[in-house]
Amino acid sequence: MDIKVPDKVKFILKTLNEEGYEAFIVGGCVRDMYRNTLPKDWDITTSAKPLEVKKLFKKTLDTGLQHGTVTVMLDGEGFEVTTYRLDGDYSDHRHPEEVTFTSDLVEDLKRRDFTINAMAYNETTGVVDCFNGLEDLKNGIIRCVGNPEDRFEEDALRMLRAIRFASQFDFVIEENTYKAIKRKAPNLQYISAERIKVEFDKILLSKHPKKLIDAYESGITKVVLPEFDEMMITRQENPNHIYNVGPHTICAIESLDYVLDNSDKIFDKDDILYNIKANEKDRLILKWTLLLHDVAKPLCKTMDDNNIAHFKMHDVVGCKKADEILQRLKSDNYTRNLAILLIKYHDYRFTNKMIPLRRALSKIGTDNIKYLFIIKICDVMAQNPDTHKEKFEDLRVSREKMKIIIDKADCLTVKSLNIKGNDIMNISGKNGREIGECLKFLLEKVIDNPEDNNYDKLEELTREYFKL
Ligand code: ATP
Ligand code: MG
Repeated sequence: MDIKVPDKVKFILKTLNEEGYEAFIVGGCVRDMYRNTLPKDWDITTSAKPLEVKKLFKKTLDTGLQHGTVTVMLDGEGFEVTTYRLDGDYSDHRHPEEVTFTSDLVEDLKRRDFTINAMAYNETTGVVDCFNGLEDLKNGIIRCVGNPEDRFEEDALRMLRAIRFASQFDFVIEENTYKAIKRKAPNLQYISAERIKVEFDKILLSKHPKKLIDAYESGITKVVLPEFDEMMITRQENPNHIYNVGPHTICAIESLDYVLDNSDKIFDKDDILYNIKANEKDRLILKWTLLLHDVAKPLCKTMDDNNIAHFKMHDVVGCKKADEILQRLKSDNYTRNLAILLIKYHDYRFTNKMIPLRRALSKIGTDNIKYLFIIKICDVMAQNPDTHKEKFEDLRVSREKMKIIIDKADCLTVKSLNIKGNDIMNISGKNGREIGECLKFLLEKVIDNPEDNNYDKLEELTREYFKL
C-alpha cells in the first residue's frame, strides 16, 4: 500500500480517539488505498455522535446532522465525519425512512453497498474487513454486502453503481449480485434522473465504458436509457460498418481518451488538433455526444434493393432525440446544446470545398470545430478498418483547409460583417425581424464570397434583398 493517510485525517482520527471514541476512515477511500490510487475524498466514520464531534473541532459545518454527518474544516479543507449508523426500512427503493446511530462499526459497514466499499481502516486496528472486501478487490469482483436482492430492493441505484464500479476498475459483477440486478432492474424507475446521470457520467468517464453492455444485458438500460437497447439490436449492413450501432457507439466512446491523450503524437504540429486540450467537463460532453451520436439510427434505418442499410436523416432526428434524453436526465444546458450541435453535424460532409467548410465553421464556431473533428475521428475509428485510411486522410485535408480559413479570419458571423443593423435600417427603412433576416442573408453571401465583406458590396446586396 503506497498511499498514506493524510496528516489532517490522522489528526481527526487521533482527536476522536483521545476523547475515547472509535474512528476509522471508511468506504471508497479504504478501497482506493488498497488499489494504490489516491482517494478523491477521505470519509471518516466514528462512534461519536454529531454533537460530540462538533465539540471537538474549532470549525465544523452541519452537513447532514440528521444522517449523522458533520464536516470538519481544517485549513479550508473539509472532511466528512459520520456517526456509525443503521439505515431503517426503505419503502420507496431510494431512502431509508430513518437512520439510527449505533456504537458498533460492523453495523455501519453492513449498510454499505459492496464488499469493496465496506472496509474501515485506522493505524491502530489496521483494516476492518468483515465481508472479505480485500479478497474481492484482489480478484476484481463487485459483490453486494448481504443479500443482493434485499440490498437492491432497499436502494435501486446500487444496481447502476455496480456497473459504475465495474467500469471504473474493470471488475466483474459476482453471479448472485448480477442475477439480482436482472430481477430488480425495473426498480430503477423510482430513482431520480439526477442520481442516474451521476452514475452514467462516471461510467462514461471511466476506462471501461464497454461495461454499458452489462447494463444492457442485465436490463438496466431498458429502464433508464431504453434508446440504448434499440441501438444494441440495430445492425448496420453497410460496407462502412462492422458493428451493430450499440457496439459501434461503445467503440467510439473508447476511442476518445486515446485520441485526446495522444493528440501530440497523432497529429502534425501545424494541425488544428495538435496537442488539443480537453478538461474533464469537455471530455464528458464529448462522451455524451458519442453515446448519442447515432441514437436515431434505429428509427431512421432503411434497406435498399441490394440489402444495404441506410440511415438517412439520423443526424437531424438524432439531435432531437438527444435533446429529449439529455433533458430527461436533467443535463445542464451547456452540455445539452453543445452535444446537440455536434450530433447535428457529426455526419456533415465537408466535401473539402471552401464553401461547405466555411459554412460548417460558421455554424459550429471556431472553438467547437475542433471538437467536431474529434467526434468524427472517434466515429471513424469505430467503423470498418478497411475504410479508415481514406476517411482519416479526407478529414486531415478538411482540417488543413479549415486552418486556412481560420488564419485568414474570413467573416463567419453576423457580428463580423462590415455592415451593421443600423445601416440596414437606414438603407431599407425596415426594422425588427426583417433586419435580422437580411443580416443572415448577407452572411450567407459572404460565406460564399468572402471578398464581398465590404460596405459598398453589402449595401448593394441589401438593396437587392429588399428589392429597392
Ligand atoms: P467515489 O470514489 O466515486 O467517491 P465512493 O465509493 O467513495 O466512490 P460515494 O458515493 O462517495 O462512493 O460513497 C461513499 C461510501 O458510502 C461508499 O464507498 C459506500 O460505502 C457508501 N455508499 C454510498 N452510496 C451508497 C448506497 N447507495 N448504498 C449503500 N452504500 C453506499
Ligand atoms: Mg467518495
